[in-house]
Amino acid sequence: MTGGMPVPEGCHLVNHPLARVGVATLRNRQTSLTAFRQALRELTVLVGCEAMRDLETETVPIESPIAACEGHTLKHPLVVIPILRAGLGMAEALLSLAPGARMGHAGLARDEVTFEPHSYYFKTPPLEHADVFVADPMLATGQSAVDTLDKLKTCGAKRLRIVALIGSRQGVTLLRTRHPDVPIFLTALDSELNEKAYIVPGLGDAGDRYFGT
Ligand code: URA
Repeated sequence: MTGGMPVPEGCHLVNHPLARVGVATLRNRQTSLTAFRQALRELTVLVGCEAMRDLETETVPIESPIAACEGHTLKHPLVVIPILRAGLGMAEALLSLAPGARMGHAGLARDEVTFEPHSYYFKTPPLEHADVFVADPMLATGQSAVDTLDKLKTCGAKRLRIVALIGSRQGVTLLRTRHPDVPIFLTALDSELNEKAYIVPGLGDAGDRYFGT
């Protein structure tokens, strides 16, 4: 779902019919609050599975009711970091995949004139040994994600991934330039931003649509 444009290296686009249908539900201005929330959560599960595909596991001995056998456990703890506020809807869905994950929060508000993000809250669990998933439905300018990754790396995070739903070319390019070690997982890649830094066609304001504001 890129309108025929190539997907940049390091950017993974979920290719699944349910993802295409879900993105259309999110984009449609007539979608109800309930259906929007449901589609956002379902898409997050689809993109979250892709983002977690290469998590390392280790073997552990277990006993089924019938026999002893080999089981698998995740090698590293998981941490989910939603970028507030729209990332909160995704965080719940990511926790449904990884109920034992810890959660941090990155509170960023964007200046309505410059569109630059300003940090008003940042708190995380220990990150050094964790696989860290930064969740934000919209990668528009990419600046909020870049600032969040800067902060997380300063706190010791090493294995990071961005989990988003709709990205813009500009946002993905900025992220790949500033954090080339961090893979990006998306369900759609749109070509442009408008003069208010909204993704076109995008879905509008993800926070407003998810929270009904
Ligand atoms: N944030 C949104 O919610 N939507 C956009 O299109 C851009 C930033």
